Amino acid sequence: MFGTLPCELVRVAKDVAAEYGAELDVDAPMSRLTTLRVGGPAHAMLTCRSTDTLVSVVRALDAADVPLLILGGGSNLLVDDAGVDAVVVRVANDTIRFDGSVVAAEAGAVWDEVVARSVAAGLGGLECLSGIPGSAGATPVQNVGAYGVEVSSLLRRVQLLDRASGEVRWALPDELGLGYRTSTLKHTDTAVVLAVEFDATEDGLSAPLRYRELAAALGAEEGERQPAAQVRETVLRLRAGKGMVLDDTDHDTWSAGSFFTNPVVPDERLPEVLAAISARVGDAPVPRFPADGGTKLSAGWLIERAGFEKGHPGPGSAARLSTKHTLALTNRGSAVAGDVLALAREVRAGVQDVFGVRLEPEPVTVGCAV
Ligand SMILES: Cc1cc2nc3c(=O)[nH]c(=O)nc-3n(C[C@H](O)[C@H](O)[C@H](O)COP(=O)(O)OP(=O)(O)OC[C@H]3O[C@@H](n4cnc5c(N)ncnc54)[C@H](O)[C@@H]3O)c2cc1C
Repeated sequence: MFGTLPCELVRVAKDVAAEYGAELDVDAPMSRLTTLRVGGPAHAMLTCRSTDTLVSVVRALDAADVPLLILGGGSNLLVDDAGVDAVVVRVANDTIRFDGSVVAAEAGAVWDEVVARSVAAGLGGLECLSGIPGSAGATPVQNVGAYGVEVSSLLRRVQLLDRASGEVRWALPDELGLGYRTSTLKHTDTAVVLAVEFDATEDGLSAPLRYRELAAALGAEEGERQPAAQVRETVLRLRAGKGMVLDDTDHDTWSAGSFFTNPVVPDERLPEVLAAISARVGDAPVPRFPADGGTKLSAGWLIERAGFEKGHPGPGSAARLSTKHTLALTNRGSAVAGDVLALAREVRAGVQDVFGVRLEPEPVTVGCAV
């Protein structure tokens, strides 16, 4: 049913909304629903405020063969200016519960509220993931991570609606193929996350500090555990300094976070890439880390060394690299998706030309490609 006329999408969405109690919006601009604040209209959007509604709506649309886009907080999406050729299903079930050391959140809960409330409840473990925008349900989709912690290390289980069978079931983390900014849920449309559970600790101490900058800011050693509340505050401060905490008044935060993932260079290509790096920057140490499939390089470092400075291409441009963090592509207020895509392509081509390394976008693109 791809290529469905907008009026047909609206008609089907209207019927489904009436039957299952979802809220219908027509021609909702995706620029108001995403943190990059670009993208054309969603011809029909169904907001689902309970898990029952979410399950029924997705089952009904799938049964009618209607294309759909699952939307959480819109913080990892780049939507084309032409809009969305599908019904947008907005996940808005948002109950958060605590049971001993288990933190349970419905998929539509705001992620940072989950973290804040877990810390306030005296639980430790989630604090390094403070300040990441978006919903709890999206956290396993790209295995969100920051400051040395990934959700894969905290996940207890994930409640899924399997879209092929229509079945609702709990999946264990092992089943989800969780890796660096990826899982079997990303780019696949196979399942909708309905709820997530995390294992925290009840001693109020953080996860062991694994990120040098964070440990240093806390005056601690790597591997130490510190009061979770103090770690959360420090993470929020460090993130804000990089434009990585949403702030309506700061265009450096009108982004999708890091726009490119750190590339993993296979062993056989590494000597060639290191030679290109050394030809460009001399003998300066190259940040690199062992990774599955080869060696992980820093995308931000490569972008800067390829000649793109913070704030590129300069004041007056509708889309620029953040002035605080080279890896974030930002909307300075008037950008459209085309501006963001053009900048992404320029940066990607620059890094490819200079170092022979291909950068892959981290956000999910809808109706467009970098
Ligand atoms: C300022 C800023 C800082 C960021 N910092 C980080 C960071 O430090 N670490 C990091 O990992 N990410 C970071 N991000 C990226 C983003 O916040 C995360 O990927 C977040 O988890 C996306 O959540 P969301 O609800 O906004 O997802 P959306 O953008 O709404 O959706 C992203 C993808 O997930 C799918 N999806 C969403 N919800 C569900 C669901 N319930 N079931 C199935 N699929 C679903 C969507 O269909 C889409 O394909 C940052 C983004 C911004 C803007």
